[in-house]
Amino acid sequence: MKKVKFIVQESILENELVEPPSTENEFAILTRRNVQNANFPELGEKSLKFISQYFPEVTAKEWNDWHWQIRNSYTSLQSLTSILKLSSEEMKVFKSKTNLPVRITPYYASLLSSFDSKQPLRRSVVPVFNELIISKGEENDPLGEHGDTTVSCIVHRYPDRVLFLVTDFCSTYCRYCTRSHTVAKTQSHHAMKSEWDLALEYISNHPEIRDVLISGGDPLTLSDSQLEYLLSKIRQIEHVEIIRLGSKVPAVLPQRITTKLVNMLKKYHPLFLSLHFTHPDELTEETKFACRRLADAGIPMGSQTVLLKDINDDAQVYKKLAHELLKVRVRPYYLYQCDPIPGSAHFRTPVEKGLEIIQNMRGHTSGYAVPHYVIDAPGGGGKIPLLPNYYQGKDEDGNVVLKNYEGGLYNYPDY
Ligand code: SF4
Repeated sequence: MKKVKFIVQESILENELVEPPSTENEFAILTRRNVQNANFPELGEKSLKFISQYFPEVTAKEWNDWHWQIRNSYTSLQSLTSILKLSSEEMKVFKSKTNLPVRITPYYASLLSSFDSKQPLRRSVVPVFNELIISKGEENDPLGEHGDTTVSCIVHRYPDRVLFLVTDFCSTYCRYCTRSHTVAKTQSHHAMKSEWDLALEYISNHPEIRDVLISGGDPLTLSDSQLEYLLSKIRQIEHVEIIRLGSKVPAVLPQRITTKLVNMLKKYHPLFLSLHFTHPDELTEETKFACRRLADAGIPMGSQTVLLKDINDDAQVYKKLAHELLKVRVRPYYLYQCDPIPGSAHFRTPVEKGLEIIQNMRGHTSGYAVPHYVIDAPGGGGKIPLLPNYYQGKDEDGNVVLKNYEGGLYNYPDY
């Protein structure tokens, strides 16, 4: 296969972005479309532009190889200077020489604005100086997961289910990650296989566990054989009824959702996917293709979204995300109040904002689009749902007084 080569300046000066020649760009786009593998969707316009600009020798097949994506991820602010004009807040982190974990797949990098540091997707993955400012109430392990860790890798908080943390690696690190105390410790594709067997033994010895949530890190960054090892072992435990996988991969590395992976996953039904989406701009053609492929394999999917200031704390933005997700058969499931991890004040919104979003959704759009708004209580209290004040108490006749989505009051005879 003939590779397309551009004549692009070799050295990119700091903060200076280079445009590729437009005629060759058009030629490259056509060529890449011609070499598409039938297993993958056509590359989106943003991917095509990004490849032409920064990976001119890469073929569509390489770009669509998730291993290539991981190998070529941006893992430092310095590496990002070749594609982003850093703002002063981003540059301050860079100059502070603080070792904050950074990892962004080339695919997700292609969705970032080169010049606008306030762009929602960019803010969610590129560190700023505010991350180094610790505010009151912030803690390393705000959910108290260490306290509920029974054996290594297992968090057993709720009576009938466990969280099984199988890796500390993610293909892209979110700046607001609740598990920033455990993820990205090795900066390598590290599977803690030696500890898995102990965890499997724990699950096997606890007949009350009917639901296992495999999370991390991101379990879909494990190889097919590693994942299958875990799924098959869990499936052999008779009292485990359902398995869930928690992942952001369809949003940041949709190339990982291969036919081979999906064919393997569907052997282990009932299997659910808890996906993590942040903003409607993540629903690219590639990501939609990945979600449809998972849905076609009969895998029920829900999305968990962290409420983030100036990223998605707007009823219209959240509603658009919810609608786009439903179109690819992903049910918006949880809207999380951002956990108070160290350096998260610039991401956190007042609780009233979350209630306002729910109020602007319930009754105004399909019930399937409306998530549960929850706070994961600091100190290990678990998820606590919050609702606008629909229940207004009882009147003197014993009727329950209810407020509907338009603010009208209605009685229900509760006697
Ligand atoms: S994908 Fe999940 S575990 Fe990984 S950094 Fe993002 S929030 Fe944390």
